[in-house]
Amino acid sequence: MPATDTRGRPLGVLRLSLTARCNLACPYCLPDGQEPPGLLTLEQRLQVIQAAVALGAHSLRLTGGEPLLHPPLDALIAAVQPLRTKGLREIALTSNGLLLSAERALRLRQAGLDRLTLSLDGTNAASVATMAGLKDEANGARALKQVLAAIEHARAAGFDPATGALKLNAVIQQGRNNDQLLPLAALARERGLELRLIEYMDVGNRNGWVQSDVLPAATMIHSISERWPLEPLGRPGHSTASRWRFRDGQGSVAVVASVTQPFCGDCNRLRVTADGIAYTCLFAAAGHGTDLRPWLQPGREPKALKQVIGALWRRRSDRYSEERQLRSTARQDHAEMAYLGG
Ligand code: SAM
Ligand code: SF4
Repeated sequence: MPATDTRGRPLGVLRLSLTARCNLACPYCLPDGQEPPGLLTLEQRLQVIQAAVALGAHSLRLTGGEPLLHPPLDALIAAVQPLRTKGLREIALTSNGLLLSAERALRLRQAGLDRLTLSLDGTNAASVATMAGLKDEANGARALKQVLAAIEHARAAGFDPATGALKLNAVIQQGRNNDQLLPLAALARERGLELRLIEYMDVGNRNGWVQSDVLPAATMIHSISERWPLEPLGRPGHSTASRWRFRDGQGSVAVVASVTQPFCGDCNRLRVTADGIAYTCLFAAAGHGTDLRPWLQPGREPKALKQVIGALWRRRSDRYSEERQLRSTARQDHAEMAYLGG
């Protein structure tokens, strides 16, 4: 039986940030240029994953920062495979795709990665440069070319978009890249990918988030539907995304509406940072996580780590996005996105 929190929500997903570094500097995320001290070793990450799976996590999402900057990524994916007999059903990765060569995509697949989500916030050089924090259009054009190539490398390596094994994430910010909504939807339709449109969120303290920069998911769906009619498929239980089907049969699109339509009610995600701090909410206050490192030292019993994570989950009561809606203001002390992994 999975551990359940004070609101009856079972632990289901572990999101593990492998690095706080990134090769981009998206202004809505703004990661650190360097790692925090005390990064977990591969062995310690494995212990965290084992404990989470023992407490009910059936899905592992590897993220960052940019997880492809983490050299032992393939080794970690290979090392967790035996946990499939203990309840782990799915291993997924979120990446900006810049470093996803054909060979790297194949290595990830062969190591046992099930699903890959690539992030891209625009379809032209100028918007990619703006959204990724690149200094000019030439850099934006290069990044765009790399991500488009990465999509095809992933497909060729066996990540089949038709089964949901390859998806595209895009953050849409009002006044910044809302003009990219239809071009991104067109690109995803052409390439047979599900596009997941993410509302700009107040994660971290560096991005200067204000509610007026959020383009509501309902507006996104309305705009797309005017061009290509859509019908709702709903939000699968515990999922972050509400899905819509194109009526012309050309695939689907999804929205992650965590600001305007919070889904705290069935949130089943535990987050662990690259330096071993566990958080039970994406919008948690910085410094309020639980440091798992004392339980990851040589000689400590795996049982102790499981007890600490289990106790943390059982006392969990977070529902920040719902509370934000009630207060209609955002708190200002968030932990940063690159630590929490999205
Ligand atoms: N570097 C990888 C990437 O960009 O895909 C993985 C880490 S990134 C933190 C994970 C996801 O979070 C990305 O899809 C990114 O666009 C999204 N994200 C980052 N900051 C965000 C914000 N303030 N609001 C909404 N989504 C955000
Ligand atoms: Fe890097 Fe991803 Fe953050 Fe962009 S969203 S800065 S790619 S970690």
